[in-house]
Amino acid sequence: MKIHNFSSGPAILPQSVMQEAAEGVKNLNNSGLSVLEISHRSPAFTAILEEAVALVYELLNIPQDDYAVLFLTGGASSQFFMAPMNILNPGQTAGYIDTGAWSTKAIKEAKHFGEVEVIASSKDANFNYVPQDYTVPAGLRYLHMTSNNTIFGTQTHAWPDTDVPLVCDMSSDIFSRSLPIEKFGIIYAGAQKNMGPAGTTLVIVRKDLLGQVERSIPTMLDYNTHIGKNSSFNTPPVFPIYVSMLTMRWVKANGGVAAMERINAEKASMLYQEIDSNPRFEGTVANEESRSVMNVTFVPTAEADKQKFFDACAAAGISTINGHRSVGGFRASIYNAMPKESVAHLIDVMRNF
Ligand code: PMP
Repeated sequence: MKIHNFSSGPAILPQSVMQEAAEGVKNLNNSGLSVLEISHRSPAFTAILEEAVALVYELLNIPQDDYAVLFLTGGASSQFFMAPMNILNPGQTAGYIDTGAWSTKAIKEAKHFGEVEVIASSKDANFNYVPQDYTVPAGLRYLHMTSNNTIFGTQTHAWPDTDVPLVCDMSSDIFSRSLPIEKFGIIYAGAQKNMGPAGTTLVIVRKDLLGQVERSIPTMLDYNTHIGKNSSFNTPPVFPIYVSMLTMRWVKANGGVAAMERINAEKASMLYQEIDSNPRFEGTVANEESRSVMNVTFVPTAEADKQKFFDACAAAGISTINGHRSVGGFRASIYNAMPKESVAHLIDVMRNF
């Protein structure tokens, strides 16, 4: 039976990428060596890293002179502290939009380094929407957002109208759509949803924001260290970077992020239409403008249906459709690599339920 993987992360990757990655583990480019056993300073790996960085610039249309592209470790969670440590001075204020568990964690870490002002929050409604009506005070050092809230199934679709640089956690929607890149000071994303296996974090940083804090920064936590050494100050996570590069090649070959955006919108709209029209299910997000195209969250109308639907999914090869342990219900994660046919299959199972 074909298994359709709706996991929120680590998550589905394109089948062809998985096959190429498996081949690279056995015999990289017919070299007789595995990607797992070559030096990170070898020409073969340097070429992989250079291609990965070049693809990030190309796919997201990033001006080469202004931004650095890094592949770091420590997960997106380390960026919660690394971003403020590198750009927020004591006495300066950073704004945060609080849209869920990940934003809340980012807020907690930023408080180690400067003043934090929560500009808007949807905590009052258990994060079931993305706040839209707020004004960004001038004078903030940056405004932090979580573009897609993996747990609550909400996503920012309208970027705030401000000149304050955005620092954005895009862990669960990187490469899913085009971006107005000039609005962003820092973008970071753990690889394990839309990019590759767990183990590397993509960081895109506007270089002019760096070098302005008073504190001394431990070497490994200083973005400038990694910029100066092209993400190879220490041994980089070679396999996650290799697979991320293969995924980005796949995105490019399939029309780039603009094509991903179009297909993602189609997949999400098919699924939301089913949730809205099927009396046995209801969506959990309060308004249409806040709905995520990456993580579609819904619940059964009758609690007694919950286990029955899990059973129906298991029988149909639908894997990992459960909601996050903190919210329950169902969550269909439909990242770039999720084929439209698998979404259609899930819809069939919902219809026949
Ligand atoms: N931010 C978001 C939006 C997430 O979904 C996650 C979960 N992977 C994280 C941050 C934490 O990422 P990591 O596990 O890589 O630290």
